Amino acid sequence: MILILIPDAHADSPDYKQLMAHLATLPGISTRVHTEAGVEQLLTEVYLIGDTKALPIEDMQNLPCVERVVRISEEYRVLGRHKNDNRSTHFDYNGVRFGQDTLNVFAGLCAVDTQEHVEMMMKALQDQGLNCTRIGAYKPRTSPYSFQGHGKACLPYVFDLAGKYGIKVIAMEITHESHVDEIREALDQAGDPTGVMLQIGTRNTQNFELLKIVGRQQDFPVLIKRGFGITLDESLNAAEYLASEGNRKVVFGLRGMKNNASDPHRNFVDFAHVPVVKRLTRMPVCIDPSHSVGARTCSPDGILDIMQATAQGVIAGANMILVDFHPVPSKALVDGPQALKINELPHFLEDISIARKAYEQRAALANRYLEE
Ligand code: PEP
Ligand code: MN
Repeated sequence: MILILIPDAHADSPDYKQLMAHLATLPGISTRVHTEAGVEQLLTEVYLIGDTKALPIEDMQNLPCVERVVRISEEYRVLGRHKNDNRSTHFDYNGVRFGQDTLNVFAGLCAVDTQEHVEMMMKALQDQGLNCTRIGAYKPRTSPYSFQGHGKACLPYVFDLAGKYGIKVIAMEITHESHVDEIREALDQAGDPTGVMLQIGTRNTQNFELLKIVGRQQDFPVLIKRGFGITLDESLNAAEYLASEGNRKVVFGLRGMKNNASDPHRNFVDFAHVPVVKRLTRMPVCIDPSHSVGARTCSPDGILDIMQATAQGVIAGANMILVDFHPVPSKALVDGPQALKINELPHFLEDISIARKAYEQRAALANRYLEE
C-alpha cells in the first residue's frame, strides 16, 4: 500500500510525526519513505510493507497528511501501474521531459571511434533541432578480440562537443559500476556541459549488483534494455530493482529478442510490447530499431527495415527511439552494417513524425469511442 502525502509534508511537521507514530503501531507493517524534491514542491510517498490487506483504505485516507491511498499489487511495486493509480508517468532531466506521452529521438553513434566522427554526428543532430544522442564508450562485445570502446579516454571530448552542439542528454551504456564514477568525474571536469542517461544493456539486464548500484544513485536517469532471452516479467522486475533502490527515473527499452525465428533480422522485433509495458508500468518506453533489425535492408517500397520497425514502434506509442547513425558506416568500429547514414537523418525524422501523428490520431479516436 502506498500513502501519497499532501505536497510539502515535511518530516518535522506535527501532522507528519503523528502519521509516522501511528504507522509504527501497526503490527507486522514496516514503512519506507520516498521523497522527490521538485522545483516547486516536495512530494512524499510512504510505502507500507507487510500484510496490508486488513488495513481499510478509508481509515488510511483519514490519517494526517495523507492525500491519497493506492493499494498495490505484488508486481513492480514502485514502477508498476496499480488500480486507481494516477501517479506521474514522467520525469525531467537536464531540461528534457521523459514520459509516457512524449517522444525523444536519441540518434547517434553506436560507439565512439574518432573525435571527428563524434563532431560530425553532433553537428548533424543540432542542424535537425535534436538535443539528445546515443553514444558508446564502454562496449560489451561478443569476442574478446573486438574493439571494446575507448572508455574514459574519450569522455572529455564527447562531453565538450555535446555542450558545443547543444546536446542535453547522452544515452551511454555502462557495464561496470566504476563507469558511473568515471562519467561523473568527466562531466564534473568539463563543467557539466551535458547530461547522461546511463544505459544498462541487454547483456546486463539481470546483473543485479550493477542494478542495485545504479539504482542507489540519483544523479543520472537510467535506460534499461529488455533482456534478450528472458521473459518480459523478468525484465520489468530488473527495472524495479533500480526503483526499489531509489532511482525512479527509469526508461524501459525494447530491442528485440534473440530467437532463430527473427532471421533475417538480427533479433525478433518486439515493438508490439510498447503498449503492454505502458499498461503494466508507468515507465516511458524506448524502442531500439537498430539492434532489433540489425541491417540496412530495404523492401521494394523503398523503406528501410529499420525505418519500418521504427514506425511500428512509434505508431504504437513509443516514447524514445535509440538508433545508430554514422557519418561513414563502412568505417564504424561497431555495428556499421546497421547504421543509418547521417544524410538519412532528415528522412528518418520526417518518417517518425508521420507515424507519431498517426498514433496521436489513433489515441484521439479511441478516446472518442470510449466517451460514447
Ligand atoms: C547498444 O545499444 O549499443 C547495445 C549494445 O544494445 P543492446 O544492449 O540492446 O544489445
Ligand atoms: Mn551496437
